[in-house]
Amino acid sequence: MMNRRTLIKAMAAAGVATPLVSSLTGCATAAKAQANPATAGKPRVVVIGGGFGGATAAKYLKRFDNNIDVTLVEKKETYMTCPGSNWYLAGLIEGEKITQNYDTLKNKHGVRVIHDTVTGISAGNKEVMLAGGSVLGYDKLIVSPGIDFKYEEIEGYSAEVAEKIPHAYQAGPQTELLYKQIRDMKQGGTFVIAPPGNPFRCPPGPYERISMVAEYFKKNNPTAKIVCLDQKNKFSKAGLFKEGWKKLYPGMIEVIPAIDGGKVTKIDANSMMVYSDYENIKADVMNIIPNQKAGKLAFDAGLTDASGWCPVNQETFESKIHPSVYVIGDAAIAGKMPKSGHSASSQAKMCAAGIVSSIHNTAMPRPKNTNTCYSLVSGDYGISVVAVYEMKDGTIQGVKGAGGVSDTGADAAYRKMEANYARGWYTSIAADIWQS
Ligand SMILES: Cc1cc2nc3c(=O)[nH]c(=O)nc-3n(C[C@H](O)[C@H](O)[C@H](O)COP(=O)(O)OP(=O)(O)OC[C@H]3O[C@@H](n4cnc5c(N)ncnc54)[C@H](O)[C@@H]3O)c2cc1C
Repeated sequence: MMNRRTLIKAMAAAGVATPLVSSLTGCATAAKAQANPATAGKPRVVVIGGGFGGATAAKYLKRFDNNIDVTLVEKKETYMTCPGSNWYLAGLIEGEKITQNYDTLKNKHGVRVIHDTVTGISAGNKEVMLAGGSVLGYDKLIVSPGIDFKYEEIEGYSAEVAEKIPHAYQAGPQTELLYKQIRDMKQGGTFVIAPPGNPFRCPPGPYERISMVAEYFKKNNPTAKIVCLDQKNKFSKAGLFKEGWKKLYPGMIEVIPAIDGGKVTKIDANSMMVYSDYENIKADVMNIIPNQKAGKLAFDAGLTDASGWCPVNQETFESKIHPSVYVIGDAAIAGKMPKSGHSASSQAKMCAAGIVSSIHNTAMPRPKNTNTCYSLVSGDYGISVVAVYEMKDGTIQGVKGAGGVSDTGADAAYRKMEANYARGWYTSIAADIWQS
């Protein structure tokens, strides 16, 4: 078991320990009797979801206190990351390079990994129910289920239609299907993309996708057109994206904002028609990304509020609805932090530190959180946005003067350097979470 000094050192190494200012109550030592003598008496933390949030939390709980019995439940045996999936669509990276597994978490960190689907949570009994029939007891539960989609807001769209018209906003089979459709598209065809409304996973994601599809078309289908029907008037890094598109893909990309009727109201997957107030367009490939809400499990477990996301104490990530249940990542309402893999991982470290502090009855570290979002406009052209966050008046807010976006008007060497940083970001965060 770690003493207070070594615990704080470990948290500092993970970037989560700064001045200790508040203390948590609620100790997890009242563990239920365990059938397994090896874990009897140990505090038990169950983590649901092995994506950016959950996998980071499982690893860092063990790093901060190896005595905690940590179980990670993830339905998939391998996890294709959304970061890098746009690069994959362009043919800039192989799919296996962005597919992670749980071997290191199991074999190096001692996390018990169960591949099964969570069908329910009993917050009253502190139990998690699995599709395979097992029931897991917990002292603390971390939930990082990601997102789900509001298909019903677009006439003609549904989860079934998305099997044919992929949103590719959860990487995996959807990404593979879109990859194939882009390659099968006729010469000079029209690719129609509709980004979601706020808030949504990865604000620059749809616009990086436009860039990566354009990168592919430039080399393989140079007379193709990309039409972006947007229900918003502004988007992340818009000036930088548009500068890059003008330079690299002149005449290929047209963006119709909300003010010009860009919101898609209806699609027809058979005739491939996309309907909006702007005009009705016949698409050859459609990439309609629906508006979003917290992952289904968060709804089933009663962790969401009227917004469709999960209200949490933004310092500890403990649910405001169910005590001892913590929600991190895209599903959580995390103040000004965007819904990104970087944010989810940063929140997971904070949440793990808070839980370990509460188990040890030590004060909660008060960290600064960060987010970095790199986007590729082409393989040699990268842009970025960085922000630093802190708790202020009970919510996570941006630190004024910290962070920023790439310069507009930068030269080719600068853009190439940022493209290399983008690849470096992926390599290091994947290594941190799944590989080391
Ligand atoms: C195209 C695209 C590009 C992106 N690029 C970037 C980027 O460059 N940088 C960045 O920081 N972010 C990026 N993101 C955003 C990033 O992918 C998400 O913000 C991140 O994955 C959120 O992590 P999470 O843990 O909340 O959810 P997820 O990573 O989605 O993980 C949720 C996990 O929970 C599992 N799960 C859900 N329900 C259950 C259940 N009932 N039982 C068992 N398991 C369950 C799922 O299988 C899944 O593995 C991008 C997203 C997209 C779509």
